[in-house]
Amino acid sequence: MQQPSPLLAWKASVDENLCVGCGKCTEVCGTCAIRIIDKKAVIDFDRCICCAICMKTCPQGAITIIPPSFPTLQREEDLGEIKAQLKGIGAQLEEMERSIKKL
Ligand code: SF4
Ligand code: SF4
Repeated sequence: MQQPSPLLAWKASVDENLCVGCGKCTEVCGTCAIRIIDKKAVIDFDRCICCAICMKTCPQGAITIIPPSFPTLQREEDLGEIKAQLKGIGAQLEEMERSIKKL
């Protein structure tokens, strides 16, 4: 059986800082995955098939194609959580290093 392309799992993502809400991306999206909400383009990941037409059309360069896990990593609260976990791991490594030196 043919496996679906891994690229289909990738999605279009909008940089809100660059988007000016012109709506050009909504006109070209064949799956109606993009809506303009509060003057910003918003992607429905369930509808996006990663064709990249919106990315090529956007005059602001506001759209990129990214792996599925990346949008959550862009959120500040998730970055904060990741930083806290890395800090904890760093502290554990320092503790292990101190213990090894005592041997
Ligand atoms: S084409 Fe670009 S700037 Fe225009 S609404 Fe879409 S993402 Fe925003
Ligand atoms: S990549 Fe294609 S399907 Fe996905 S939002 Fe853009 S135009 Fe629509």
